[in-house]
Amino acid sequence: MARISDLGVEIKTGHDIRQAPEGLLNQGFEAVFIGSGFQKDAALDIEGIQSKGVYAALDLLEKVRRGIPVDLGHKALVIGGGDTAMDAAGVSKRLTGQPATIVYRRTLAEMPASPEEREATFEEGTQLLELASPMRVISENGHVVGLECIKNKLGEPGPDGRRRPVPVQGSEFVIPTDSIILAIGQEPDLYFMQTSQVLRTKNGAISGGAIGGESGIKGVYAGGDAVINPDSIISACADGENAAEAICKQLGVEFDTLPFKPAGINEDQIRINKNARVIKQTLQKPAFQPLSARAGFDLLERTYSEAQAKREAERCLQCASYCDKCVEVCPNRANLTYFVPAIQINLPVIVYKNNKAEIVRNEILKVTQTRQIVHIDDLCNECGNCDTFCVHAGKPYREKPRLFFDENVYNKESDNAYFVEKIGSTWSIRSRVATEERELKLEQGLITFETPRVKSSFSLPDFDLTHLVVTGPFDGEESLVEAGEMFVLVQGLIKSMPYLPYRGN
Ligand code: SF4
Ligand code: SF4
Repeated sequence: MARISDLGVEIKTGHDIRQAPEGLLNQGFEAVFIGSGFQKDAALDIEGIQSKGVYAALDLLEKVRRGIPVDLGHKALVIGGGDTAMDAAGVSKRLTGQPATIVYRRTLAEMPASPEEREATFEEGTQLLELASPMRVISENGHVVGLECIKNKLGEPGPDGRRRPVPVQGSEFVIPTDSIILAIGQEPDLYFMQTSQVLRTKNGAISGGAIGGESGIKGVYAGGDAVINPDSIISACADGENAAEAICKQLGVEFDTLPFKPAGINEDQIRINKNARVIKQTLQKPAFQPLSARAGFDLLERTYSEAQAKREAERCLQCASYCDKCVEVCPNRANLTYFVPAIQINLPVIVYKNNKAEIVRNEILKVTQTRQIVHIDDLCNECGNCDTFCVHAGKPYREKPRLFFDENVYNKESDNAYFVEKIGSTWSIRSRVATEERELKLEQGLITFETPRVKSSFSLPDFDLTHLVVTGPFDGEESLVEAGEMFVLVQGLIKSMPYLPYRGN
């Protein structure tokens, strides 16, 4: 906070936000960024839910953190299966002195809570009632005394791959309790947006924050969980940076970032790291507090000691600079490492207007990682090894640029397929995208790029657009960023792998 206020930023706290972002624009602010998070408890609409003794989990946790007294009685039920439900169960035990019971509609195997949270919660004695859905809160004199539930069985998997709970008719039962804590999910708290024209998604989040954070109203930007639903801090930071860049652009202010620097480490360092990778160094995890020390509200998980933190940091294998797992595990040598130029260029996005091409904006193509992977599809038998070992959730044999040397096979592909050939002194790279073909030709400092709708030329080294025509009317936008991507790919291939059997080479 101090670092930000030192930049001259005025921070106002303790204010209810009482107007839509458009109101701030009317007051003279030129841009508004909404990063209000996803911090409201989702509601459960069942009979008796307004009874005293029913708490929303986040509300309860906040009260406890602020030292506001909360009376849960002697026995509490927690409804839900996520990390918040685990936190609520732990806090409930500290307030009641008794382990809570978690009521969950699926089974332990489908619980979304992280394994560490689950382990810490259940080793404290928390009970789990699986395959039960709440039906009705039973109260006496306005205060909860029980929860009526129905038993479930697991049905077919839903869109998220988890099997859906299916109620078993006639299986209703009642659990006596003094209090109920609802931890069934969260939603954005956008009460101040009621009169706003900013676009929203079905679950109430702000829509359209992906590109530079713009939200459908000029000058209003959004990012973080309020747009992308609960995600990592890193994603939220990336949204903040994108929005800052878009706001600077809108205001005509130079966006001051760290200098453009290609990520990469040299081959000697890579050799050293590869040797280090073959030695198994196990993860150092800070220990959890022993059960006997868990009476209060201290952190359950201890932090690293300095020595542990250093040892843990030394395990870094610099995957961000290079990984190569899919290269190493491929029995057919179908994934290869090659090197591309680091570049940052602007490429036009065009529309068809008044019988000609009109540039509506530019897109930035930024390639910082010079070490890349290409997939030689002719050699792949789809064994799936690279998919299994990829350190991300990637499928390298489908998602890396797929290069073909057999033109007949290439012609039958509908997407992510490339064919490189040399025609005289000109290099050509063709690609098939959504069953259409594009072609980029590279000759002596000049690039031509053609799609079914556009013919264009660029001059090197700055990728300046020198020629642009449309072949006929088309709907929507046509981005020429693919020209930059195909240029990077073909440059990388012919410079770092000149020995591959490109036709005509
Ligand atoms: S799926 Fe293809 S690229 Fe991946 S490891 Fe198997 S043969 Fe190699
Ligand atoms: S595709 Fe996966 S396995 Fe291959 S280099 Fe990238 S992260 Fe590593």
